[in-house]
Amino acid sequence: MRVLIISDIHANITALETVLDEAGTFDAVWCLGDLVGYGPDPNECIARVRQLPGIQCIIGNHDMAALHQLNSDSFNPEARAAIVWTQKTLTESSKIFLQHLPEKIELPEVTLAHGSPRHPVWEYLLDARTATLNFDFFDTRLCFVGHTHLPVIYSMNHSFYGASLTIPEPGQSIPAPERAIINPGSVGQPRDRDPRAAYAIYDTDSKIWEYRRADYDVQSVQERMRNACLPERHIQRLAAGW
Ligand code: ZN
Repeated sequence: MRVLIISDIHANITALETVLDEAGTFDAVWCLGDLVGYGPDPNECIARVRQLPGIQCIIGNHDMAALHQLNSDSFNPEARAAIVWTQKTLTESSKIFLQHLPEKIELPEVTLAHGSPRHPVWEYLLDARTATLNFDFFDTRLCFVGHTHLPVIYSMNHSFYGASLTIPEPGQSIPAPERAIINPGSVGQPRDRDPRAAYAIYDTDSKIWEYRRADYDVQSVQERMRNACLPERHIQRLAAGW
């Protein structure tokens, strides 16, 4: 089965549509949370994701904040402003979809979690040490995460030394390690200085992880953000990917 792996769409329908166009054929979609927050198209993104084939989707911290399930005081002022805008903009039907998303999904060989298997909603896996500690918190061969908006593979092939970190090249196809935590990067707000939408294709038969980037029309998203009076800093960052 060919699975499209997407994460951190952040209400950016232009990036999402571009990824769906460029991904080729796929049998299922696994979405790793943060459908909303920052961007101008929360309802459009939810409507698109919920109709995708074989969709498995978990909740992210921005999705929870948009549902008033997290105290938005823990977000910085601009992120909070975007959350308040999202709360006002979400339709009843979008809210119901988000409310039903689980924090974690365990599939036959892969666990899905937004931040980490240990603390699915909040923990950031930004270094090999933190990743190493997280291998005790999932039983499947692989765990797919999002949240940091940085594409990375933490593999645990020689557990004595802890996990090792690999940053894949766009277009690279990598056999999934025996045990690994893998992040596809962010569709709607990349933060690795590459503004292109990040995603991956995972083949459950060959166990190949194919990491990809897609150029999309950033300016049209920035225009919609300006019209919605969303924070200028979030508008700027899309163009440079930070
Ligand atoms: Zn995010």
